[in-house]
Amino acid sequence: MVYYTSSPEETEELGRKVARVIKETDGFFFVAMYGDLGAGKTVFVRGFASVLSPASRVKSPTYTIVNEYRKGEKPLFHFDLYRISSPDELDGFGFDDYLASGNCIAEWCENIGDRLPDGAVRVTVEKNGECGRKITVDGLDLSGETE
Ligand code: ADP
Ligand code: MG
Repeated sequence: MVYYTSSPEETEELGRKVARVIKETDGFFFVAMYGDLGAGKTVFVRGFASVLSPASRVKSPTYTIVNEYRKGEKPLFHFDLYRISSPDELDGFGFDDYLASGNCIAEWCENIGDRLPDGAVRVTVEKNGECGRKITVDGLDLSGETE
Protein backbone atom coordinates (compact mmCIF):
# COMPACT_ATOMS: atom_id res chain seq x y z
CA MET A 1 0.00 0.00 0.00
CA VAL A 2 1.21 3.48 -0.83
CA TYR A 3 0.45 6.47 1.39
CA TYR A 4 1.23 10.16 0.96
CA THR A 5 1.73 12.33 4.02
CA SER A 6 2.16 16.08 4.06
CA SER A 7 3.52 16.67 7.58
CA PRO A 8 5.49 14.88 10.31
CA GLU A 9 2.23 14.53 12.25
CA GLU A 10 0.65 12.58 9.39
CA THR A 11 3.68 10.32 9.17
CA GLU A 12 3.41 9.67 12.93
CA GLU A 13 -0.25 8.85 12.46
CA LEU A 14 0.61 6.25 9.82
CA GLY A 15 3.10 4.77 12.28
CA ARG A 16 0.30 4.53 14.85
CA LYS A 17 -1.97 2.86 12.33
CA VAL A 18 0.59 0.16 11.53
CA ALA A 19 1.21 -0.34 15.26
CA ARG A 20 -2.50 -0.74 16.04
CA VAL A 21 -2.70 -3.71 13.67
CA ILE A 22 0.44 -5.25 15.14
CA LYS A 23 -0.80 -4.69 18.69
CA GLU A 24 -3.89 -6.80 18.01
CA THR A 25 -1.91 -9.67 16.46
CA ASP A 26 -0.15 -12.51 18.26
CA GLY A 27 3.58 -13.06 18.03
CA PHE A 28 6.43 -10.65 17.44
CA PHE A 29 6.72 -8.47 14.37
CA PHE A 30 9.77 -7.13 12.59
CA VAL A 31 9.19 -3.82 10.80
CA ALA A 32 12.01 -3.10 8.35
CA MET A 33 12.43 0.55 7.41
CA TYR A 34 14.13 1.88 4.28
CA GLY A 35 14.88 5.44 3.24
CA ASP A 36 17.58 8.11 3.18
CA LEU A 37 18.81 10.28 6.02
CA GLY A 38 16.08 12.75 6.91
CA ALA A 39 13.36 10.85 5.08
CA GLY A 40 11.24 10.50 8.22
CA LYS A 41 11.94 7.00 9.53
CA THR A 42 12.39 8.11 13.14
CA VAL A 43 9.25 10.24 12.91
CA PHE A 44 7.33 7.13 11.84
CA VAL A 45 8.88 5.12 14.70
CA ARG A 46 7.74 7.82 17.13
CA GLY A 47 4.10 7.23 16.19
CA PHE A 48 4.59 3.47 16.06
CA ALA A 49 6.14 3.34 19.53
CA SER A 50 3.47 5.60 21.02
CA VAL A 51 0.99 2.73 20.55
CA LEU A 52 3.22 -0.20 21.50
CA SER A 53 5.12 1.45 24.36
CA PRO A 54 3.20 4.59 25.34
CA ALA A 55 5.19 7.54 26.69
CA SER A 56 8.60 6.11 25.82
CA ARG A 57 11.00 8.75 24.55
CA VAL A 58 12.00 7.79 21.01
CA LYS A 59 15.38 8.82 19.63
CA SER A 60 17.45 7.32 16.84
CA PRO A 61 19.77 4.84 18.56
CA THR A 62 22.64 5.75 16.24
CA TYR A 63 25.45 5.17 18.70
CA THR A 64 23.94 2.25 20.56
CA ILE A 65 22.35 0.44 17.57
CA VAL A 66 19.30 -0.53 19.64
CA ASN A 67 16.94 1.21 22.07
CA GLU A 68 14.55 -0.76 24.24
CA TYR A 69 11.09 0.57 25.07
CA ARG A 70 9.33 -1.41 27.76
CA LYS A 71 6.15 0.43 28.61
CA GLY A 72 3.85 -1.84 26.61
CA GLU A 73 2.63 -5.42 26.85
CA LYS A 74 5.63 -6.70 24.92
CA PRO A 75 9.13 -5.22 24.68
CA LEU A 76 9.77 -3.02 21.65
CA PHE A 77 13.28 -2.84 20.18
CA HIS A 78 14.22 0.10 17.94
CA PHE A 79 17.30 -0.45 15.80
CA ASP A 80 19.32 1.99 13.75
CA LEU A 81 21.49 -0.10 11.44
CA TYR A 82 23.18 2.87 9.74
CA ARG A 83 26.60 1.86 11.02
CA ILE A 84 26.28 -1.82 10.17
CA SER A 85 28.53 -2.35 7.19
CA SER A 86 28.11 -6.11 6.86
CA PRO A 87 25.25 -8.41 7.89
CA ASP A 88 27.78 -10.44 9.95
CA GLU A 89 28.01 -7.55 12.41
CA LEU A 90 24.45 -8.31 13.51
CA ASP A 91 25.72 -11.26 15.53
CA GLY A 92 27.99 -8.94 17.52
CA PHE A 93 25.04 -7.50 19.41
CA GLY A 94 22.72 -10.52 19.45
CA PHE A 95 20.34 -9.43 16.70
CA ASP A 96 18.56 -12.82 16.59
CA ASP A 97 17.98 -12.78 20.35
CA TYR A 98 16.12 -9.48 20.03
CA LEU A 99 13.90 -10.86 17.27
CA ALA A 100 12.87 -13.70 19.56
CA SER A 101 12.16 -11.41 22.53
CA GLY A 102 9.83 -8.67 21.33
CA ASN A 103 8.51 -6.54 18.50
CA CYS A 104 11.23 -4.86 16.46
CA ILE A 105 11.40 -1.82 14.21
CA ALA A 106 14.65 -1.18 12.37
CA GLU A 107 15.93 1.83 10.43
CA TRP A 108 18.44 1.27 7.59
CA CYS A 109 17.48 -2.30 6.65
CA GLU A 110 19.31 -1.61 3.37
CA ASN A 111 22.35 -2.73 5.40
CA ILE A 112 21.27 -6.20 6.47
CA GLY A 113 20.88 -7.97 3.15
CA ASP A 114 19.50 -11.48 3.42
CA ARG A 115 19.32 -11.31 7.22
CA LEU A 116 15.93 -9.67 6.88
CA PRO A 117 13.63 -11.86 8.99
CA ASP A 118 10.95 -13.91 7.23
CA GLY A 119 7.59 -12.22 7.31
CA ALA A 120 9.02 -8.75 7.92
CA VAL A 121 6.72 -5.78 7.32
CA ARG A 122 8.54 -3.39 4.99
CA VAL A 123 8.13 0.39 5.19
CA THR A 124 9.89 2.66 2.69
CA VAL A 125 9.90 6.43 3.22
CA GLU A 126 10.74 8.73 0.32
CA LYS A 127 10.82 12.52 0.14
CA ASN A 128 8.14 14.05 -2.00
CA GLY A 129 8.77 17.78 -1.80
CA GLU A 130 9.78 19.66 1.37
CA CYS A 131 7.09 18.36 3.71
CA GLY A 132 5.59 15.59 1.63
CA ARG A 133 6.51 11.93 1.93
CA LYS A 134 5.60 8.84 -0.05
CA ILE A 135 5.41 5.87 2.31
CA THR A 136 5.04 2.32 1.02
CA VAL A 137 3.92 -0.38 3.45
CA ASP A 138 4.28 -4.01 2.36
CA GLY A 139 3.50 -7.22 4.19
CA LEU A 140 0.73 -6.08 6.54
CA ASP A 141 -3.01 -5.93 5.99
CA LEU A 142 -4.13 -2.45 7.02
CA SER A 143 -7.60 -2.77 5.48
CA GLY A 144 -9.30 -3.12 8.88
CA GLU A 145 -7.93 0.27 9.93
CA THR A 146 -10.22 3.09 8.98
CA GLU A 147 -9.11 6.66 9.20
P1 ADP B 1 15.33 9.67 9.39
O1 ADP B 1 15.10 8.92 10.66
O2 ADP B 1 14.69 9.01 8.20
O3 ADP B 1 16.76 10.00 9.15
P2 ADP B 1 13.92 11.78 10.79
O4 ADP B 1 12.60 11.12 11.07
O5 ADP B 1 14.90 11.85 11.90
O6 ADP B 1 14.57 11.08 9.50
O7 ADP B 1 13.70 13.24 10.27
C1 ADP B 1 12.75 13.59 9.30
C2 ADP B 1 12.74 15.11 9.20
O8 ADP B 1 11.86 15.50 8.14
C3 ADP B 1 12.22 15.75 10.47
O9 ADP B 1 12.95 16.92 10.70
C4 ADP B 1 10.78 16.07 10.11
O10 ADP B 1 10.28 17.19 10.83
C5 ADP B 1 10.89 16.39 8.63
N1 ADP B 1 9.64 16.15 7.89
C6 ADP B 1 9.03 17.06 7.08
N2 ADP B 1 7.93 16.56 6.53
C7 ADP B 1 7.79 15.29 6.99
C8 ADP B 1 6.81 14.28 6.77
N3 ADP B 1 5.77 14.43 5.95
N4 ADP B 1 7.01 13.10 7.42
C9 ADP B 1 8.08 12.92 8.23
N5 ADP B 1 9.03 13.85 8.46
C10 ADP B 1 8.89 15.03 7.85
MG1 MG C 1 16.44 8.02 12.04
